[in-house]
Amino acid sequence: MLLKPVCPHCQCTYYYKDIVKSLHCKTVICFHCKKKFKVSKLTAFIICAVFAVTISTGMNLFLIDSIGLNSVKPMLFGTAFVIILSMIIYPYFIKFSIPKESD
Ligand SMILES: [Zn+2]
Repeated sequence: MLLKPVCPHCQCTYYYKDIVKSLHCKTVICFHCKKKFKVSKLTAFIICAVFAVTISTGMNLFLIDSIGLNSVKPMLFGTAFVIILSMIIYPYFIKFSIPKESD
């Protein structure tokens, strides 16, 4: 499930910090083969947003239902933790693809 994206031209693997750097650009030039590729972020964003919403909602409902929580603070901290976690795993869902021939 957690696969780091590879260059679509030479299959060269990218390190976490390089993926994070590539998030700021639409196209990246491969450091290995020097060919251009596209950075697709939408799917990764949707996966992480769904993950964060599902996990935090489930966790908060669990806290209310089984522990009988009557304070909002633990839920806020839990939700913040899940959001931070989803931001950490976000780069693992990024896809690199070959851009269309127009440019
Ligand atoms: Zn390459």
